[in-house]
Amino acid sequence: MKDKGFTTKIVHGDRESPIEHGSVHKPVHNVVLYGYKSAEELAAVFQNRQPGYSYGRQNNPTTTALQSKISALEAGSDSVCFATGMAAIAATCLTLLKAGDHLISSQFLFGNTNSFFQTLTQFGIDVTFVDATDAANVKAALQPNTRMVFVETIANPCTQVADLQTIGEFCHQQQLVYVVDNTMSSPALFRPKAVGASLSINSLSKIIAGHGEVLGGSVTDLGQYDWSGYPNINPSYRTGDPQKWGLQQIRKKGLRDMGATLAPDSAHRIAIGAETLALRVEKACSNAQALAEFFDRHPAVKRVYYPGLADHPQNRRAQELFSGFGSLMSIDLVDDDTCFEVLNKLQCVVLSSHLGDNRTLAIPVAHTIFYEMGPERRASMGISEGTIRISVGIEDQADLLADFAQALS
Ligand SMILES: *Cc1c(COP(=O)(O)O)cnc(C)c1O
Repeated sequence: MKDKGFTTKIVHGDRESPIEHGSVHKPVHNVVLYGYKSAEELAAVFQNRQPGYSYGRQNNPTTTALQSKISALEAGSDSVCFATGMAAIAATCLTLLKAGDHLISSQFLFGNTNSFFQTLTQFGIDVTFVDATDAANVKAALQPNTRMVFVETIANPCTQVADLQTIGEFCHQQQLVYVVDNTMSSPALFRPKAVGASLSINSLSKIIAGHGEVLGGSVTDLGQYDWSGYPNINPSYRTGDPQKWGLQQIRKKGLRDMGATLAPDSAHRIAIGAETLALRVEKACSNAQALAEFFDRHPAVKRVYYPGLADHPQNRRAQELFSGFGSLMSIDLVDDDTCFEVLNKLQCVVLSSHLGDNRTLAIPVAHTIFYEMGPERRASMGISEGTIRISVGIEDQADLLADFAQALS
């Protein structure tokens, strides 16, 4: 399947390795333990001399199959799955950074990642938040102890697009681990490998699974970072191919020791969802473009944040980097005070905090997901008190346009 297209690879990938009874899906192995006939074999598996499964917290064949699928989506060398996207982010940072290290992060960040990075500072990891839409800000934040740069592709809620390419070149020069959270673009629109990223993180709960019924997260090594030069790899993981050291440490410490393991049933559901990823993304992007243009013309809407509009500050960059502009947008109403009233009138659109679902979702961000942050930090992220975030789904376009038209009237 190596030379096949994006969707062909996902849909047929499971049949590549031996599969029971010709089943086109990998079976769901609901199991914790793995039994062996001989002590020699058991020992060989534990010592990594023989492939095999040791314990459900570390590995499971259903999850292994999903990890191969994610690696194929990202054109990466290997992936590790976790129970949620946040677990993947936490495991990556806590296993690759230590007290005294410095992390440079985009200031336009998923709220919970932002909150987690504040927690990191309590463990002696120094974090600098910068406007990553300009790589010069990342460069200016460099310190002798900087180890990692973390950015998102299309930021939530105001859709800033990071200067992904130039930041990638800088990270390569400085041998920094470059982590890209690809959740809002998904591998259907963008592969962080193309901009030199070391690791790509996806919340599988969002666009990849797509149907709003399962949580998961992943981190993929894109095979471009030389881990032999990274000072924080534990001596016991400095064995075998250096290309694998980083992910090996994330897997061992982050999954085995910290334990946010993806359930096998969830792995199965995510794999099913991923089969239609490209089709859903294409439909959601075309709906989003139509909605953005509708809002842009609407007298009750003051401002539209969508990378597919010509006046978006990173419209050209988004065009160059992504094969579509995504399904996330935000709007500011002319009158902030009408925000709840407009939302309450929506009939088809669901009032919800989720993103990347088949259903179109809307949420007043200052009152909900960014409430804890306070007005000052909200302002620094470009969020006004009446900003409404919309995650566009795959419904029939005319129904979405009609729903927003009646709500804004
Ligand atoms: C939702 C989200 C996450 C966290 O994913 P969960 O699966 O909900 O834990 C991380 N990053 C981004 C950009 C997200 O949108």
